Amino acid sequence: MNDGPADDGLLERLRSVVGEEGLRTQAQDLAPALRDWRGRFTGAARALVLPVDTAQASAVLALCHARRIPVVPQGGNTGLAGGATPDAQGRAIVLSTRRLRRIRAVDPHDDTLTAEAGCLLAEVQQAAREAGRLFPLSLAAEGSCTLGGNLATNAGGTQVLRYGNARELTLGIEAVLPDGSVFEGLRGLRKDNSGYDLKQLFIGSEGTLGVITAATLRLFTPPADQAVALAGVASLEQAVALLGQARERLGPALTAFELMSSDCLALLARQTSSRLPPLAAHPWCVLLEAGVHNPEARAADLLEQLGTEALERGRILDMVLARSLAEQEALWAMREGIPGAQARAGGNVKHDVSLPVTAMASVLARIGTALRAIDPCLQPLVFGHLGDGNLHLNVGVVPGQDAARAFALEAQINAVVFDAVLASGGSFSAEHGVGQLRRELARRTLPPVHRSLMAAVKQALDPLGIMNPGKGVA
Ligand SMILES: Cc1cc2nc3c(=O)[nH]c(=O)nc-3n(C[C@H](O)[C@H](O)[C@H](O)COP(=O)(O)OP(=O)(O)OC[C@H]3O[C@@H](n4cnc5c(N)ncnc54)[C@H](O)[C@@H]3O)c2cc1C
Repeated sequence: MNDGPADDGLLERLRSVVGEEGLRTQAQDLAPALRDWRGRFTGAARALVLPVDTAQASAVLALCHARRIPVVPQGGNTGLAGGATPDAQGRAIVLSTRRLRRIRAVDPHDDTLTAEAGCLLAEVQQAAREAGRLFPLSLAAEGSCTLGGNLATNAGGTQVLRYGNARELTLGIEAVLPDGSVFEGLRGLRKDNSGYDLKQLFIGSEGTLGVITAATLRLFTPPADQAVALAGVASLEQAVALLGQARERLGPALTAFELMSSDCLALLARQTSSRLPPLAAHPWCVLLEAGVHNPEARAADLLEQLGTEALERGRILDMVLARSLAEQEALWAMREGIPGAQARAGGNVKHDVSLPVTAMASVLARIGTALRAIDPCLQPLVFGHLGDGNLHLNVGVVPGQDAARAFALEAQINAVVFDAVLASGGSFSAEHGVGQLRRELARRTLPPVHRSLMAAVKQALDPLGIMNPGKGVA
């Protein structure tokens, strides 16, 4: 049977491993897996392969390794750096974790949960909730992204301020190496100094070192009471000052501090039928969330006191406190609706940057001036996880202009943003990774010793270079 470019019998062998239901080769089945969420990258592949367990994933990789066939791991395909999209050559297979979907164990006493890589993040959160525990990783794509993708990109999201990013929430990992051997590291230990912490290699590796098949995660006691407030502020300097005050006043009870510019909210308002609160018209809004564990305490009291003090000190213009769960959800929906609203408006030139919080206002002002000099129609649409120093600094066009105008200036816009961010000691990728989008920038700007160490790790784990070629730094 002739089944591929090299007639190497690969598809037939893969079929014998994953069965008919685990192998897709028809163009209409492959198409969604060959395009990234933003529609910026399109690739080609011989097949979409869906193993149902670790043994099948191992056999698939062994087959590909023997034939030097590139393997592109894919979870929910919501990544924003093009990491899960194959290149255009059509030699690769896309290995989807969609059928690796079991919650293997929940241990509320040890505060651990072990789940397979293809579980949706929302399913992991739900399994923890059903056991009376909290898995705090949370992001707007949680209904579509997978645990494996979260770990492979070291995802951040809205609760990093209090609980850390995916790396800090992971205790153990099971992964299949490029030659098909299995790294069995599913341990729930808090302390283990028996050598290098090898699981860390896979977290943030964007599928370039192996396929994560399962992970053991840290769980937490959920807060007894939670509150959400929205504050209007006049400037980014004031938002940063409010962050300092909130940290001082609330300590670990502060679980989220999310920034949104009025331009982002105006775009959202133009697209949605639900009315935004009037203070959304202030230059900046901050969504604050607090959680308390003492059943005698009220989280709303903490936010109310903070708001009163911040008003007295002139740090905020106004604040509204959600009075019900529905109101809390509405405020979060506003924050989480921003990426979708920007996509529906035709997209924009995205940057996911990290900055020292103290430098944020001046760097943004500098970038704003430089962008206006390129084209007065450019409009920065800024939102993100201010509490972690992470901004989504997206550059679109003012209402009424064609989004293509920003894309045509992408190289100039990127130069302005990244020069300013890197000069201030920031990072060009806070949580979205390198993928194919930032590969050249990473190679150009990371220090030579960092790059050579990454190349040495890649060579050690994937000497044939079959794992997700053309992605990441090495
Ligand atoms: C609306 C929206 C909001 C978002 N908000 C956030 C946010 O707040 N914070 C944040 O960090 N990200 C955010 N993202 C980005 C994205 O959702 C995350 O990066 C997510 O973790 C990717 O998971 P996924 O399953 O979709 O991975 P995919 O997109 O399928 O893959 C991403 C990368 O991981 C690799 N990969 C996937 N699964 C595996 C595996 N099992 N083993 C090895 N490698 C694998 C892929 O090869 C690729 O390089 C957002 C995306 C959208 C669309």
